[in-house]
Amino acid sequence: MKVGFIYDPIYLKHDTGQHVENATRLEAIISHLEQTRLKQQLTPIRPRAASIEEVSLVHHKQYISHVQDIAQKGGGWLDADTVMSSSSYEAAIYAAGGAIRATEAVMNGEVDSAFALVRPPGHHATSQRAMGFCLFNNIAIATKYALARYQLERILIIDFDVHHGNATQETFYDNPQVLYISTHQYPFYPGTGSIGETGSGGGKETTVNIPLMAGCGDAEYLQVFEQIIVPAARRFDPSLILVSAGYDAHWADGIALMQMSTTGFVQIVGAIRGLADELCSGRLVFTLEGGYNLTALATSIKATFDVLLGNTNVEDPLGQSPHNLAAPGIAPLVKAIKEIHNLS
Ligand SMILES: [Zn+2]
Repeated sequence: MKVGFIYDPIYLKHDTGQHVENATRLEAIISHLEQTRLKQQLTPIRPRAASIEEVSLVHHKQYISHVQDIAQKGGGWLDADTVMSSSSYEAAIYAAGGAIRATEAVMNGEVDSAFALVRPPGHHATSQRAMGFCLFNNIAIATKYALARYQLERILIIDFDVHHGNATQETFYDNPQVLYISTHQYPFYPGTGSIGETGSGGGKETTVNIPLMAGCGDAEYLQVFEQIIVPAARRFDPSLILVSAGYDAHWADGIALMQMSTTGFVQIVGAIRGLADELCSGRLVFTLEGGYNLTALATSIKATFDVLLGNTNVEDPLGQSPHNLAAPGIAPLVKAIKEIHNLS
């Protein structure tokens, strides 16, 4: 299997100081991929800058200019959680371009699958404002680009970041061509993502929210993949799958309260890869969202690449959660979601 790896040092120049979303995240990932010699199994792909027209597939031009202006003035805070530096606009344009380039590489057959290791992340950035560490919505831009450029009829987005991708949902809420499925801790930031949010207009039923209570781990995630995500994806029958890959549901990640392990990520990435193989000739694009414990992030991304490459015996150095939390029963939730979406 040929697996693309999109990265550029420009992503380190989005300088956020002491912020939890900082350049050490990508540095830890790259260094782990080098130390484990996994990097040499990957196909390196250089990102390009997204054009203003491409970014404006999702964002208002006025907002794009606003982000550019703040960078030119040396940076500043865009909302209570989101800060930028003088190079952040360029990094964000390349992050969007990285997701686009990953999609092109997969669609053109340069690689079987690809992972855009970009920052800033994207899934909270709405058409008109920055939110939750995100400037431009990389996955939404790549999705709109793929729909237009390759005239695809249906794209599936799976978002397993621990936070709900409010802005990705919003972008495609009334769009029947995009099925958005999210697993997330709930109630939690940003507050959206209840089971009743299912899409509107022509996009009715093409948003599937799986709001999980704190404490869920590998078994619960696997359960919702098997019982909800796999059947929903099969019914939708996409031509391409894009993934908002955040690793902040890992038990060692202090930003949330989920109990996933790297082994759990291996299982759900395996399920996603299985769907891509079955439904869309393996066409699969990952783009990085959250993940703030550097060891958990780096080992889980390496494990993701292992699954995409078809490697077996994937390492999980951190192991299972040492926290003795009783896993919440999610059977009633799964049943309710299946009923809402008519999944048998
Ligand atoms: Zn997140």
